[in-house]
Amino acid sequence: MARLIANAKDIQGKSRRHTVRQIRPNWYKVKSGESQRVYDVALGVNGGTCTCEWGRQRPENDHRSACSHVVAAINYRAIQDGRRISAWDSEEAAQRQHRPMLKIGDGLILTSRLN
Ligand SMILES: [Zn+2]
Repeated sequence: MARLIANAKDIQGKSRRHTVRQIRPNWYKVKSGESQRVYDVALGVNGGTCTCEWGRQRPENDHRSACSHVVAAINYRAIQDGRRISAWDSEEAAQRQHRPMLKIGDGLILTSRLN
């Protein structure tokens, strides 16, 4: 069984400390605020993939990674639209926000609100 992320607020906090640079449409370089390592993140409509260790271990049938690097890239993209994202690991908690929801894999749910 695929492992699920159970610490959405940790992921969200880490994602805020990364530096995101857009390379091409839907392609980003994300520099970790902790290790200073740079990862490639490709975004699709339902999340994205990442070259970090977690991202490379995603199951064969779903390559999406809900790591902090993908969350950082999605937040970067949301900011361009004047929005800001929050991360949740429980669907009930996400639904209580009454905001647009996006399930990005690994059990992680993002909501977005106008900034
Ligand atoms: Zn990653």
